[in-house]
Amino acid sequence: MLTHIRNAHIVDPANGRDEIGDLWIRDATIVVPPPGARADETVDASGLIAMAGGIDIHSHIAGANVNTARLMLPEQHRAHARRPVETPLSQVGWTTFETGRLYAEMGFTTVVEPAVAPHNALHAHLELADTPIIHKAILTLLGNDDFGLGLMRAGESASALRDHVAWTLQTTRALGIKVVNPGGVAAFKDNIRSFSFDDVVPYYGVTSRAIVKALQKAVHELGVPHPLHVHCNNLGLPGNFETALATIAAAEDLPLHLAHLQFYAYGKEGPQGFSSAAPQLAEAVNAAKSVTIDVGQAMFGQTVTISSDVLRQFSARGQARPKKWAIADGDSNGFGIVPYEYRAGGFHNAVQFAIGLELFLLIDDPSRVFFTTDHPNGAPFTTYPDLFALLMDKDVRAEWLSRLPKEALAVTTLPSLKREYTLSEIATMTRAAPAKLLGLPDRGHLGAGARADVALYRPGKDIAQMFRAAARVYKDGELVVLNGEVTRYAYGRALHVTPVVEASMRRRMRDYYDARYGLPSDLLRVPEGAIGRPQPFEAVACAN
Ligand SMILES: [Zn+2]
Repeated sequence: MLTHIRNAHIVDPANGRDEIGDLWIRDATIVVPPPGARADETVDASGLIAMAGGIDIHSHIAGANVNTARLMLPEQHRAHARRPVETPLSQVGWTTFETGRLYAEMGFTTVVEPAVAPHNALHAHLELADTPIIHKAILTLLGNDDFGLGLMRAGESASALRDHVAWTLQTTRALGIKVVNPGGVAAFKDNIRSFSFDDVVPYYGVTSRAIVKALQKAVHELGVPHPLHVHCNNLGLPGNFETALATIAAAEDLPLHLAHLQFYAYGKEGPQGFSSAAPQLAEAVNAAKSVTIDVGQAMFGQTVTISSDVLRQFSARGQARPKKWAIADGDSNGFGIVPYEYRAGGFHNAVQFAIGLELFLLIDDPSRVFFTTDHPNGAPFTTYPDLFALLMDKDVRAEWLSRLPKEALAVTTLPSLKREYTLSEIATMTRAAPAKLLGLPDRGHLGAGARADVALYRPGKDIAQMFRAAARVYKDGELVVLNGEVTRYAYGRALHVTPVVEASMRRRMRDYYDARYGLPSDLLRVPEGAIGRPQPFEAVACAN
């Protein structure tokens, strides 16, 4: 099958294209224009913008934490009989099916679920397999687990830790490793309720800093393309920008990714002791070339916070809106689910909203700042179209700012920022850069050899509307969305790395699980047969 897309405005920064041109798709791949060939289908894309399919590097869409949130908030389900109002949260629909549909309709074709405890990997993969259209991946949690911290306590070699990381990645079929509140989650089990970067985890005798550095090095040395993905200590606390600054400094010259930086850009200035420290963090990120961040933008309306940061969620339970919450603990990471409503009229929420936008606008390089709302923690992913409009049009921003409390705007620099993202910068941030960050050379661009994941948008005065309903989306060369509606439900694959695992580590893990839990270590394994579909997985190469 040969498809010819004619006369589109091609926005493909990875290949230096921002021009009117054509795309040729043969089966699932973008190809060079075949001389003299006649297309089986020709699409006139005059007036449409063509980008590679969008890639979301951090969105909580599957697994035990998400499922608990679903169970706890039935009134937010699209299908719920008593659902009183349309909220940002209820718009996500809450099923795996709706998740795939809504992402595809916005032109997103790959999404990473970033927080899966090793023992929940199979569950997360089963849910992801049930999510149509998009390709997906998980990041597995380490850094608070007894086995890994035990290795550090015993002073074992860096190679032992590296083998454990490799075993975890391979067993759980993950694309990378995330650490959440490094050491803090483990310390919570000893009734510790506050934990910073140089605090020591009881019993294990290691600091957060040591955990981050050891895991960062292990991931790097294994050649895993995605750097260690860090959810820092002290999320949400005034003055916590110092923690983020210390973590950025600790990266030194090795790659490190900091998740949802908005939640760490809080100063203590101003009459309410809460202010934006986004300028200081943006300056540090601009200078630290090995560091990437995603924003975790907060948007207004009802949502729910879903986090493996048990310590943080336990502290935040009093802020639950509506007043119900769930905290669970376990080895590695438990979870905390706290529903929350961001209010435009509230001082703190308005400052949070401004901080996210400041980070987007003050970090110079769009290939190192990633587009996330930490779905659903800052806002559901269905708010992305509004966020694109806020970044691309300063008049849209001014209109939103006019609704916010003046005291909030006084403690941020947002009103003074005039930058507007270009289409090419948007495509860098949501296509080219995430493909590179995750190690997916055949995604995120429209050059020959790329997988034919393509989104066509119909531009207009209303930027949000353009990104809300793609004119056409192709996934692996198949048309799956037409005029903002899914027309075909294909299923994507789960992407994962396959580092070499030493036989000695397999034996150690078997013995550990047997001695500690009386369970086989195979319990954590995600077998291909569990998915019940041909080729549910796709291996991503490691550098080593
Ligand atoms: Zn997150």
